Amino acid sequence: MKHSKIVILGAGVAGLTTAIALHKKGFGNISIYERRKTATTIGAGLVLWANASKILHKLNLLAEIEKVGGEIDKMQRWAENGELLGEINVNDIDTNIGSTSYAISRIDLQKILLQKVEELKIPIHYNRKVLLIDDKDNNAYVVFENKLKVNADIIIGADGRMNSIARQYVNDDNTPVYHNFANWIGIIESDKAIFSENIVLDFWGCGERFGIVPITKYKGYWSGGKSLKLNTDVKNNKAQLLRIFSSWSPKIKEIIQLTKEENIKYIEVFDHNIITVWHKNNVCLIGDSAHAALPTSGQGACQAIEDAWHFASILKESKTIKEAFSEFKRIRFEKTTSITMAGRELAKSLFNENPMFCKQRNENSKKTDYMIVSQNIAKLWSKNLPK
Ligand SMILES: Cc1cc2nc3c(=O)[nH]c(=O)nc-3n(C[C@H](O)[C@H](O)[C@H](O)COP(=O)(O)OP(=O)(O)OC[C@H]3O[C@@H](n4cnc5c(N)ncnc54)[C@H](O)[C@@H]3O)c2cc1C
Repeated sequence: MKHSKIVILGAGVAGLTTAIALHKKGFGNISIYERRKTATTIGAGLVLWANASKILHKLNLLAEIEKVGGEIDKMQRWAENGELLGEINVNDIDTNIGSTSYAISRIDLQKILLQKVEELKIPIHYNRKVLLIDDKDNNAYVVFENKLKVNADIIIGADGRMNSIARQYVNDDNTPVYHNFANWIGIIESDKAIFSENIVLDFWGCGERFGIVPITKYKGYWSGGKSLKLNTDVKNNKAQLLRIFSSWSPKIKEIIQLTKEENIKYIEVFDHNIITVWHKNNVCLIGDSAHAALPTSGQGACQAIEDAWHFASILKESKTIKEAFSEFKRIRFEKTTSITMAGRELAKSLFNENPMFCKQRNENSKKTDYMIVSQNIAKLWSKNLPK
């Protein structure tokens, strides 16, 4: 199978990491097709938790991540009135998993992955929007917007969550699910120190939430969420945010004020219902197209990175493509499903607008043994990781 022609649809985290992992396992004929005109990315930042950094180490990417990413020690939960609700010790999770968690800007992560892909001489064809995947004699082929038609032994659908053509082909449906909340995301950078500790601050309101993640002393990203109907007409992001979160922690106000208007984006947040079929003929789904989870899972990109590692390792060991695809889904299904459901569960609780519910939720949090929470998180995230 080493000489199989492999086509990857989408140059996001899943597509790029899969290309790198496949190359490492000895596959030589790989190409990536991306709808965007250039190598751009949206989004502020994300945390590469220890499960993802373990894989990135295996792929010889961790040294680059360490140069621009920032370690995280703790994650604190606060009520909007300034009361501490609990603290997750990230160092404990890291120790359990055997790696380190890093916060990183999306642009930096994308740059590192792209540089590696370039170094490995894996071609990326930009401005290639997939229109359709069809098949003849059980062999799928891809049709692009410019009528280009591409055949391959293996087609990897890494085309994300919002309109995955690969998911449509495999599953006959690709409709994402909105959960009645939207996020404003932003990235901040300053000459003066903004952060003194490596602590993620997670503020819980009632139908609202604000999270702040330091990357370095001078740089970080944040996300402000609010329970909102789909297609709400939102204007003047900064002014809106200052209004919504004005009575919350002064740190939130400082962070919003420091963010340039053009660095704030409003995103309606979707995930996907679980699907049990991830492949059809020679097409296999990977990353968000297979199992998009809400940002409240904190694991979307991390799971895309895990997918990449498992997909390449399994393909190398398998006798046939069909066997490889089935094994890939078997290994990945349970973990990604648990993570998607955990993301939904937390979102349901955070964006609940009932004051009684929120009061009780906060009381419960104060009584929670966060050592056990850390252990449970580590148990889930370390499932099926390589040694
Ligand atoms: C607001 C928000 C915050 C998040 N925060 C975190 C976090 O903190 N930690 C974390 O781990 N995850 C986070 N995630 C999730 C994470 O961003 C995704 O899970 C991850 O990017 C999945 O990678 P992917 O490659 O599957 O999809 P994407 O990164 O979306 O990449 C898909 C690629 O396919 C391309 N594409 C799409 N359609 C076509 C087509 N028809 N033809 C050709 N190309 C196409 C796209 O242009 C894109 O480049 C967050 C998500 C959101 C929405």
